Amino acid sequence: MDITKEYARKLDKEDTLKKYRTEFYIPSGTVYMDGNSLGLLSKRAESAVLSLLDSWKNSGIDGWMKGQHPWYYFAERLGGMCSPLIGAMDEEVIITGSTTSNLHQLIASFYKPHGSRTKILVDELNFPSDLYAVSSQLALHGYDPSEHMKIVRSQDGMLLEEVDIIQAMTEDVSLIVLPSVLYRSGQILNMKLLTEEAHKRDILIGFDLCHSIGAIPHAMDEWEVDFAFWCTYKHLNGGPGSVGGLYVNRKHFGVGPGLAGWFGSDKDKQFDLDIKMTPATQVGSYQIGTPHILSAAPLYGSLQIFQETGIARIRDKSWKLTEYMRCLIDELLSEYAFQNVSPLEQERRGGHLFLIHEEAARICKALKEKGVVPDFRSPNGIRLAPVALYNTFEEVWETVQFLKEIMEKEEYLKFENKREVIA
Ligand SMILES: *Cc1c(COP(=O)(O)O)cnc(C)c1O
Repeated sequence: MDITKEYARKLDKEDTLKKYRTEFYIPSGTVYMDGNSLGLLSKRAESAVLSLLDSWKNSGIDGWMKGQHPWYYFAERLGGMCSPLIGAMDEEVIITGSTTSNLHQLIASFYKPHGSRTKILVDELNFPSDLYAVSSQLALHGYDPSEHMKIVRSQDGMLLEEVDIIQAMTEDVSLIVLPSVLYRSGQILNMKLLTEEAHKRDILIGFDLCHSIGAIPHAMDEWEVDFAFWCTYKHLNGGPGSVGGLYVNRKHFGVGPGLAGWFGSDKDKQFDLDIKMTPATQVGSYQIGTPHILSAAPLYGSLQIFQETGIARIRDKSWKLTEYMRCLIDELLSEYAFQNVSPLEQERRGGHLFLIHEEAARICKALKEKGVVPDFRSPNGIRLAPVALYNTFEEVWETVQFLKEIMEKEEYLKFENKREVIA
């Protein structure tokens, strides 16, 4: 392993995606390693927002049907731009809602408890919002979540074993909701295997793609996943609170929507304003109200970049970045008790690394003081996400050098080992 800065620069020179960095606004003086919490603004996303604002400015209500991006079809259009990223057909993907509200919609549509099949299977490492949603849906159906939300435990608190999940797919389970990539350890679950095993047992299965979309490829259709949902402000760089996404396998078209609203209507019938709804025949039926056009606008620009590069090239560079970082950490920080808990195998690791250290909170503060933006996860985790579209190998090198300096000189000691309100 070559630990010189020259080697990092050589890797940057060979990088075929390097020109995309100039399309992003990199906060000045920072090494941004937090793209899996909030991706950065690209110039294309910015001009898409301005263009949609213009359509409002110039067309008023006619913007729904006129102009470059008629708002009435915008959610479907963005869905089509997203579909290659998850291996789905255009009509199976829609940009709508948020991660959590989409999960509510999907449970409301696909959770059909019957007889002794009443449970929803989840895991204890998923992002808590998903578990809150599952719990409240169970309660709405009149079930006690403490009995009917079946939680797969992790053996080490960081990773999940697929065999444990499969073992939990018992006859009382009706539906499964799991993450594609765990938000802490970065582990990729074997979605193909889990879907096969769920279907063998007549259980429907859906995945939360928040930490995988835009970072790794997916094959939702090929794996026959029943449904999926995600946010677009992490690896997809859609901006704070940008509109989320939802996938339903076409074999389920016509089911639900569990939560209905007029924007789930067949588009040609919607403005008949009939008191009986005629749902859209495709994934659009899972929309509820008027689409949030201005919060979806940046996606029109940012998804173009993904269309241009393709997800395979992004995954290739992302893997190289995290692997380079992992090797540098091994080489340079071995005496400082950092524990890398992210999987080592390519098919099991997503787009970030997760380091555990008992001083993690103040190490993150010391990093921030040096201009590196990491992500602290309570109680003792440092999450680092070098992103393919805008980070460089040299930045990875710098980040590890800074970490070494912070540890060597004990610079973290001047901070309190406590998290901020947002961490
Ligand atoms: C980021 C994230 C969320 C956030 O949910 P929102 O409804 O978009 O606020 C939910 N689940 C996972 C796994 C996440 O990573």
